Amino acid sequence: GASSRTMKIDPLSVDFTDEQKRYLEGFATGLQISKVGRGLGGASAGKANTEPSGPDAAHIKAQDRVIASGKKLVDQEKFKREEHPFDAYPRLKQQALTNAPPSPADNFRWRYYGLFYVAPAQDSYMCRLRIPNGILKHWQFAGMADLAERYCGPFCHVTTRANLQVREIPPKHAVTLIEGIQDLGLCSRGSGADNIRNVTGTPTAGIDPQELLDTREYAREWHYHILNDRSLTGLPRKFNVAFDGAGKIAVLEDTNDIAFAAVEVKDGFGVEPGVWFSLGIGGITGHKDFAKSTGIIVKPVDATKVADAIVRVFIDLGDRTNRLKARLKYVIDGMGMEKFLNLVEEKLGHAFTRVPPEALSPRPAFDRMAHIGVHRQKQEGLSWIGVALPVGKITCDQMRGLAKIARDLGDGELRLTVWQNLLISGVRNENVALAVAAIEAIGLATKASQIRAGLIACTGNAGCKFAASDTKRHAAAIGDWCEPRVEIDTPLNIHITGCHHSCAQHYISDIGLIAAKVPVGESDDTVEGYHLFAGGGFGPHADVGQEVFHDLKAEDAPKTVERLLKAYLAHRASPDETFL
Ligand code: SF4
Repeated sequence: GASSRTMKIDPLSVDFTDEQKRYLEGFATGLQISKVGRGLGGASAGKANTEPSGPDAAHIKAQDRVIASGKKLVDQEKFKREEHPFDAYPRLKQQALTNAPPSPADNFRWRYYGLFYVAPAQDSYMCRLRIPNGILKHWQFAGMADLAERYCGPFCHVTTRANLQVREIPPKHAVTLIEGIQDLGLCSRGSGADNIRNVTGTPTAGIDPQELLDTREYAREWHYHILNDRSLTGLPRKFNVAFDGAGKIAVLEDTNDIAFAAVEVKDGFGVEPGVWFSLGIGGITGHKDFAKSTGIIVKPVDATKVADAIVRVFIDLGDRTNRLKARLKYVIDGMGMEKFLNLVEEKLGHAFTRVPPEALSPRPAFDRMAHIGVHRQKQEGLSWIGVALPVGKITCDQMRGLAKIARDLGDGELRLTVWQNLLISGVRNENVALAVAAIEAIGLATKASQIRAGLIACTGNAGCKFAASDTKRHAAAIGDWCEPRVEIDTPLNIHITGCHHSCAQHYISDIGLIAAKVPVGESDDTVEGYHLFAGGGFGPHADVGQEVFHDLKAEDAPKTVERLLKAYLAHRASPDETFL
């Protein structure tokens, strides 16, 4: 009967759609075969009558909605749409090998691989890695020193996202560098452009006597989740996620788009008592906003799932027409927190767990000097040593030296912090003095004044095209001037940032400076300078600093900061009274 016969399809009798015909033509010519895995219509942005599918579908649909509404996509969205950066590697690679600078579109695409062409500041690339929870092995750290020496300016910077950056990379070495980074088991993928940035976590995770939870596994899980899911790349704008384990050193999670903060939930509130994450969202301190508390608590094991759902709502609704309004904060502000959270619940497929603020025990206090010097670990007989780095800069020889110290005298790991420095962990107490002496022998310090310990600066115009001033140099000048003149006995943060992107978070520091071109004289002449803010804070003291000086010349900044500090010392009621 008919059922026993093999059914054959005569291709000529089938009415294929245009899209399907193109698909078949690909097999005939061999041209499309490499794209089969992306699914029909996968990256076929904007083709008539086709429903986007595949990993880029949600992005393409969001772009299509903008176009259908008659608005204009920003250039960066057009670059993504024309050629997805992760499809462009062979072409970009060939282009870089010619040593020519990239086009603006390709400069944007390279950022998906962590490479930034930084003209006009320099005619070279900068490269930023991603290091989950900021922790890397001694051989990876030494390996980065070797790469930086061979292919970059021979130094590294520790960034305010507990990450490494290398600079002064001639275009022809850019690909060798990022492939070399991967040879070390590290990566730079997605550390720039509209992607989820380096995942930060408490730097003393697993060794901190007061932590509620070890953030490493959660930061790591989220890190690999992002890296292995292309649909989570190419967001409307950059996106930050941080995990705080309630240790001594702040990770500034409330400056992130998603802030997971370990918290002790008390008994008697209808939920399982114990350690959960509290969820904060929408932080972006460059725009003067901390992550807002949601009243939601998340089981640590569900953190990745929750972050994934939040990011996917952001992909659908983030602004793709105006870069200044493209961050998560603006989606939340636009529709209201509750509506936003309802959409996230829809993606998740279940409701969040909510508790009143009184269900949460207060966070154990920060020790604002715990990132510098010797501190006892929770493991009997072991200490971590915080090494001070001058505004985050470290030479290749120093890196190899620290790697050797970590290998020989520590547990073999180096832990970067958002305070632009690093820790060597797992040092046996009897070896602490030897390790400190070895660190000093390579020209680094394990002690710092309160001024030096909290002095943070972004890259500045020595390497970033957005900067209006040479932030790192001016930060060093402020430290050099104030340190011998002001004896300050309370923790203090002085943050110096080069532009409104606020990589050095000037709004949340005791004293924050943002670079500005300061007019001088009658003509249009300007000099490098700053607007100075004071009174910002983080954690329980979270606050946005207020402008105190407008158009301060850089050369006057050290003396101005000195005066401010002296005024604080003269007028405070007690040493417990924080700055302003
Ligand atoms: Fe560049 Fe601005 Fe970031 Fe400084 S704050 S590194 S100037 S983007």
